[in-house]
Amino acid sequence: MAYKTLDDMGDIAGKRVLLREDLNVPTAEAKVTDDTRLRAAVPTIAELADKGAVVLVLAHFGRPKGQRNPEMSLALVTKPLEHLLGRPVQFVPDCQGAEAEAAVAAMSPGDVAILENTRFHAGEEKNDPALAAAMARLGDAFVNDAFSAAHRAHASTEGLARLLPAFAGRQMEAELAALQKALGQPEHPVAAVVGGAKVSTKLDVLTHLVTKVDHLIIGGGMANTFLAARGVNVGKSLCEHDLTGTAEQILEAADRANCTVHLPYDVVVATEFRPDPPTRTVNVHEVGADEMILDIGPAATEALADVLKTCRTLVWNGPLGAFETPPFDTATVSLARTAAALTREGSLVSVAGGGDTVAALNQAGVAEDFTFVSTAGGAFLEWMEGKALPGVEALG
Ligand code: ADP
Ligand code: MG
Repeated sequence: MAYKTLDDMGDIAGKRVLLREDLNVPTAEAKVTDDTRLRAAVPTIAELADKGAVVLVLAHFGRPKGQRNPEMSLALVTKPLEHLLGRPVQFVPDCQGAEAEAAVAAMSPGDVAILENTRFHAGEEKNDPALAAAMARLGDAFVNDAFSAAHRAHASTEGLARLLPAFAGRQMEAELAALQKALGQPEHPVAAVVGGAKVSTKLDVLTHLVTKVDHLIIGGGMANTFLAARGVNVGKSLCEHDLTGTAEQILEAADRANCTVHLPYDVVVATEFRPDPPTRTVNVHEVGADEMILDIGPAATEALADVLKTCRTLVWNGPLGAFETPPFDTATVSLARTAAALTREGSLVSVAGGGDTVAALNQAGVAEDFTFVSTAGGAFLEWMEGKALPGVEALG
């Protein structure tokens, strides 16, 4: 999809730019506990301010459900952002209306302000044209830098982009470029790793991917449902027995699309789910009635590494095992390290996303080595489902 970036904005000195960011940071006792999202916003804010724009940052924070709620005020992130940015940041206590208009009118080129939580207005999540128009009055241009909020058609992500000249921020641009490389026009062969707990949460992902990739690697709890569909007795494993028919259909669709599906043939099992219990590594046909499959086995992991060595592109969502509990992170860590090494050698483009996936890659110490790691949970998954993201579409 074609979209404009900061490079297409022309001379923005003195122009008021409404900049949608993701500032939805985790907090505890009114303190930011992880500033990853703030740091990610800095390049675009700094670039716009350096070019002399009046930078008006729009964002949501928590779920105030259309009500003013002091506990969800973005005032909290003003100081941390100021610190990271190395320049003053003002706080404007509304994202629209007369008070906001007066505050913005008093700002000078290069000034930066955070406007109050967009979700204090019920019109935000309803994509109310009246709210979008009221926000649009504050700015001359709109920049969306929040890929993670782009799967929602809200006033500050979609509505505004229809009212003002709209551009992708640097973060958005990087995310879109990486995703395009991984599934838009990827170099083949392409492998997808899909793991995690349940088939039911990733049905659309699986259905879309079989038409896109050459190798579909299924791990995690969801592999158990596929194994059950193939007649394997999975014992006490996490398994959606009511979805074995659906799993069967996905396998048939893969067959028709010439997509090779890789299910584990050996697995690590235990009778108790706790750190470091006694385990057995067995063929999938040897799982005991009282045992749970908690990771894929070493032979399967090695075979998957060989598959990755033949591939040019990898997209990964979902851990291969119950990685939070040792030793059931073994396969995930091992395959992630293989992918990282292949990426470093330049033979693989590797893109990964998903909350637990990012945690698992960090645990393996390889997140930095992947070509791109998306921290946009919901938006990343919808993109893997092949869905159009309204916030991105509106930039086109
Ligand atoms: P993501 O957040 O990256 O999209 P998911 O939320 O779909 O990933 O899945 C992650 C969860 O799946 C983890 O909590 C992990 O423990 C669980 N999981 C993976 N394999 C198994 C398994 N064999 N049995 C039970 N849970 C598993
Ligand atoms: Mg998760």
